[in-house]
Amino acid sequence: MIKLYNTMSKQKETLKPIKADVVSFYSCGPTVYDYPHIGNWLAFIRWDVLYRTLRTSGFKTRWVMNITDVGHLVSDADDGEDKLEKGAKREGKSAWEIADYYTQDFMEGLDALDIQINRTNLPKATEAINEQIDLIKTLEKKGHTYTIDDGVYFDTATYEDYGKLGNIDIENLQAGARVAYNDQKRNVTDFALWKFSPVDVKRDMEWDSPWGVGFPGWHIECSALAMKHLGETIDVHAGGIDHIPIHHTNEIAQSESATDKQFSQIWLHSNFLTVDGTKLSKSLGNSFTLHDVEKRGFSPFDFRLFALQSHYRTQANFTWEALEAARARRKTLQAMADLRFQPIARYIDSSVLEGISHNVSLRLQDDLNTPEALAELSKLDTVVDDVTETHSSEENAFKAFIEAIDGMLGLGLLRSVDISKAQKERVEQRKQARADKDWAKSDTIRDELVEQGIGLKDTAAGQVWYRV
Ligand code: AMP
Ligand code: ZN
Repeated sequence: MIKLYNTMSKQKETLKPIKADVVSFYSCGPTVYDYPHIGNWLAFIRWDVLYRTLRTSGFKTRWVMNITDVGHLVSDADDGEDKLEKGAKREGKSAWEIADYYTQDFMEGLDALDIQINRTNLPKATEAINEQIDLIKTLEKKGHTYTIDDGVYFDTATYEDYGKLGNIDIENLQAGARVAYNDQKRNVTDFALWKFSPVDVKRDMEWDSPWGVGFPGWHIECSALAMKHLGETIDVHAGGIDHIPIHHTNEIAQSESATDKQFSQIWLHSNFLTVDGTKLSKSLGNSFTLHDVEKRGFSPFDFRLFALQSHYRTQANFTWEALEAARARRKTLQAMADLRFQPIARYIDSSVLEGISHNVSLRLQDDLNTPEALAELSKLDTVVDDVTETHSSEENAFKAFIEAIDGMLGLGLLRSVDISKAQKERVEQRKQARADKDWAKSDTIRDELVEQGIGLKDTAAGQVWYRV
């Protein structure tokens, strides 16, 4: 049983997929006009945890995430520049080149962080222009649209529940909007479905439509792509909390007006990442990317562990010190995972392991409680320290345990390799030296192994090695 906090109902709900055997899950993806920053990656890691939790809990899952390569304006609303055109100007390239380059970078980031979305489930906005036009046509036929100078708009007064997701106080918004940029709009909350290319400007990305040459709005993109790939009603729709008042509110209004069906059963929202307690921004120079993390010598998995330390509904605060702490914690976990190559693994009681992995999955099934799942995992420390040679479990029980844990959390624990044959011999020789009370030899071997990046620890069940 999986419980998730639904922003719409404001309570935790048990997930009951519409199609009993497969969960349909849509998350809002990156706008590919620049390198994703670590705040973006935080959100994507969190959705990957959901995907893994669904699958390890026995649900077949179809996870779709869009790639926004057109139509996302800098304001999130209907004014300002298209982010892709902005990127193109910045780099002296075409919007298409910008989209290609940053999409590729995004794909590499997915690999580096082991985000398991099926790579064929990452549709681009520009590949579904017809679907977006069709959806706008449907809305037009049903009387939800009107056209003004700069585009075709959705009339939010025609959708009764407008603003329900974020409890938006529309009257207040209307009152405060006297200086609204566009006085042709009927309601301050109305939003563009299709924007016309500006007169005398040839955009890199523009298409013909029944209303004129232009490009689709950002909100219609997600509705059209979700419906195209997952159907008219989906089980879970996710995004950052910034999407509650505008983007998701508008997705709901246009989708439900078009289909007369509920658009998504559950709405999940990930809270934001701050850096040193402040908002990420280019001008402050704190808009770090995954490349910055790697340049400072960290593994992307250190960042992933940092991300899992906070619950998705809470704000995460990034500092380089916090990342160092996450790296140390991951090293401890990696040392544990590397026990799978060592004789001690056989003496660890498999029922204890099963207990831990069961608890990890229970924590995740309870609204993706990753900090508590990690806390469960820490219990393994004492288990290992207390192990003696009295208990014997199945040969592969420990390996299966690590596989299960890494399957749920994705910390790259299985990417490590065994030490070499020669190193193993040295480990054995140290064991013998200790048995012979030849402390000098034992110390020499230990120092030699440390030089090679291998530490040794003596436990009740014998020596174990770990990578330092
Ligand atoms: P964008 O590329 O701007 O369309 O954003 C991609 C995703 O990252 C969206 O789901 C945003 O809500 C999310 N996001 C943007 N900034 C942050 C941040 N500082 N912390 C966490 N998530 C963010
Ligand atoms: Zn979206």
